[in-house]
Amino acid sequence: MVDLNMKVVEPRKLTPESRFKFRCHPGISCFTECCGKTTIILTPYDILRLKNRLNMKAKDFLAQYTRMELHDKSGLPMMIMDMPRFEHHCPFVKPVTGCTVYKDRPATCRYYPIGQGSLITESGLDEFYFYVREAHCRGYEEQDEWTVATWRLDQGVDKYDEMNRDWKLMMLRRAENGGPVTDERGNKLFAMVLYDLDQFRNFVFKSRFLTVFHVEDDVKERIWDDDEELLKFGYQYLKSALNIEDTLEVKQPLGPGPGATTMTF
Ligand code: SF4
Ligand code: SF4
Repeated sequence: MVDLNMKVVEPRKLTPESRFKFRCHPGISCFTECCGKTTIILTPYDILRLKNRLNMKAKDFLAQYTRMELHDKSGLPMMIMDMPRFEHHCPFVKPVTGCTVYKDRPATCRYYPIGQGSLITESGLDEFYFYVREAHCRGYEEQDEWTVATWRLDQGVDKYDEMNRDWKLMMLRRAENGGPVTDERGNKLFAMVLYDLDQFRNFVFKSRFLTVFHVEDDVKERIWDDDEELLKFGYQYLKSALNIEDTLEVKQPLGPGPGATTMTF
């Protein structure tokens, strides 16, 4: 998997048409080696998929498997799963059968040996790719041919990219607009909305949220028990709170006190 160590990144920007050879399979000599030598940034959608797969509350999943770190360029919180903490074995890997959460594995694991980078340009978000070459990985000695586009399709990353795009945009925009800001309260809200959907659901339905913001009934129904819809709604709410877009209609001005939703990003 992709280590945050940039030495393994090939300094060549790939496009969807770029070609490469790769195959990963249980018979390969390095099988599962990569899963212990890595640090993975878990995206909001990774966490959603994994906690549901493991039938865990987000809070318990985060406590058991992740640590929080502030993104150096934006100052916003990120959730990290680093394998040294688990004695250099991903907690989800088994020696013979491999990944036990394969259908819900994180985006980074899906993309490997491709990495994805993102930049904000004048025309919007530019997503590009690069090749990750780690010495222990023998998969690139195999002969199966791919383009980045066919690999993405095969690994089912489209849905992940779609669900994580707003998260990346918020990080990049914050990084562009002056860089890291120390805002403990704002960061707590950001982490709760995007990484702890169970707590965000309680926040929406059990605080003053619905008396402050106008939320259509059909949206309320969808976010009541659908985590994907709740995550999409979370992005809408944060865009409003971050003053990126007027996405939510305010019914009542906010005041101090429990449930107040002000952010000072
Ligand atoms: S989630 Fe699965 S693929 Fe990713 S590092 Fe862990 S065992 Fe490997
Ligand atoms: S081929 Fe690469 S990705 Fe597959 S198990 Fe080996 S090290 Fe991991």
